[in-house]
Amino acid sequence: MRLTTLALIGGMGLLTWTGSARAINVEIDYTYDTGNFFGSGNPNGTAAGQQAKDALEAAADYFSGILTDTFGEISTPAPFASQFFSGIATWEWTSSFSNPTTGGSVVLTDETIQPDQYVIYAGGRSLGGSTLGIGGPGGWGWSTGGNGGGFTSAEIDQINLITDAFTSDVETRGEATGFANWGGAITFDNDGSTTWTYDHTSPPVGGTSDFFSVAIHELAHSLGLGASSEWTSLVSGSVFTGAASTAEFGSNPPLDPGKAHWLNGTTSTVFGGTTSQEAAMDPSITQGDRKLFTALDATALTDIGWSVVPPVISLAGDLDGSGFVGIDDLNIVLGAWNQSVPPGNALADPSGDGFVGIDDLNIVLGNWNAGTPPTAGAAIPEPGTLALLGLALPALLRRMHVLS
Ligand SMILES: [Zn+2]
Repeated sequence: MRLTTLALIGGMGLLTWTGSARAINVEIDYTYDTGNFFGSGNPNGTAAGQQAKDALEAAADYFSGILTDTFGEISTPAPFASQFFSGIATWEWTSSFSNPTTGGSVVLTDETIQPDQYVIYAGGRSLGGSTLGIGGPGGWGWSTGGNGGGFTSAEIDQINLITDAFTSDVETRGEATGFANWGGAITFDNDGSTTWTYDHTSPPVGGTSDFFSVAIHELAHSLGLGASSEWTSLVSGSVFTGAASTAEFGSNPPLDPGKAHWLNGTTSTVFGGTTSQEAAMDPSITQGDRKLFTALDATALTDIGWSVVPPVISLAGDLDGSGFVGIDDLNIVLGAWNQSVPPGNALADPSGDGFVGIDDLNIVLGNWNAGTPPTAGAAIPEPGTLALLGLALPALLRRMHVLS
């Protein structure tokens, strides 16, 4: 619907994701960002590295906001010593993943994973060809040991209970069915062959690859999409047979030949909204586009065993999710003004009607200045003075880049 009057519309907003009760906490761990891609080692400088970090954190927060599973803690039990004999029982577990900076194998022993925590090790390195990023869940192993001494039968029963609880948490985080894990790892191309838009609070620049979109895509892989036995078990020939995805798509969604993505160009609607968009989990992204997570992507998470809820509507008009309705949000709308929604730039269309126009502007203006200003005391421009910003954008270079 294109409104032609400037009536202020409040109370409606899509695509912001702050402030909900969380179950899963997707936490980015920079321990293995030894090249400081997310800081001073970023090829575009420290500020760009910080923007990359902010975008990745926002993508992680998005998933924390839509995943409502309850995961058990993983912690290695203390050694169990017999009260009557010389026996001592011990346990150990390992987490393994590809070092995001070097690509080498990392094996960690007896890390503690907090309840509901899902750890993602992140970094950057040179990725071949036009690959923008790589992501996937990590591996794990566990073992029991001891000193060979004896136990009473009651103590052996206790040891077995400890082992059962421990291995249940390592293998399935205590869940009965479906995908579960301690976490995984993601990496992004840092060799200068990729020109990134790191800033997730404004639309991606034409001719660049949108970091936030790639972060969403790779994090979804690390949550098991296209990269788990639960996914693979639902692949049949060239289609995905998950019940929720099939219901959402209307038939079995077609897969890319690699079977880890939807077929290139598969479309859905932005998850929690109504805007049509190419799915996040097809294998490529067009330069200058932002791709948000779609309903089809979300149903695939459901199919592999996650409990998924739509993103929370927290603050009408807060298009960039900053917690404040202001100039950044206005510029998102004006940057795509008077156009059909550019593929993947659904943020500019909070009304969800497929066109960036007066109804979208009214959603922002209708809640103008709401929330917490990013800088106390900063001058907030009046919206009426800004109506000409960003109306002329250069023609976008539209080239496809590969996601892994
Ligand atoms: Zn991928």
